Amino acid sequence: MSMLSKPMLDGLNEQVRHEIISAYLYLSMSAYCESLNLPGFAKWLRLQWHEELEHGMKLYDMIHTRGGRVTLGAIDRPQAEWKSVSDIFQNVLAHEQKVTAMINGLFGLAVKEGDYASQVELQWFVKEQVEEEKNAADIIAQLKMLGESGTPLLMLDRALGARGSKG
Ligand code: MG
Repeated sequence: MSMLSKPMLDGLNEQVRHEIISAYLYLSMSAYCESLNLPGFAKWLRLQWHEELEHGMKLYDMIHTRGGRVTLGAIDRPQAEWKSVSDIFQNVLAHEQKVTAMINGLFGLAVKEGDYASQVELQWFVKEQVEEEKNAADIIAQLKMLGESGTPLLMLDRALGARGSKG
């Protein structure tokens, strides 16, 4: 086992922080959907909150496995209000695109550092980001197709509420 380089360790710690920032944002979105009486959207976002925490902990464990020291950074208060349900999911997509750029940056760093173990671990995250962006884009497309009021919105709320804990 090779030790993590200092730039790699710093990058991974920063990514732990960002996964928890994602989690916190999605929990705030979930609470907002609860306030709109949209339990399906709220449940979907709450599952997303939990997934992001799992991403953070996956990196957290990876740092320890490689003999590194986890240091946790500060987290700001998340956004609490949105204009509409599609505003929320546009925000999710933009956020995930930002996370994708960070993951790609970390992968690039692992290549530069000749850190093969990190490259293998980060491949999982590269694939996961493709999924995350697709999920958000699909919901935006459905909102566009169905509209976001009345019966169509309630139907979509029910569909999203049927999401299992994986996927
Ligand atoms: Mg994530």
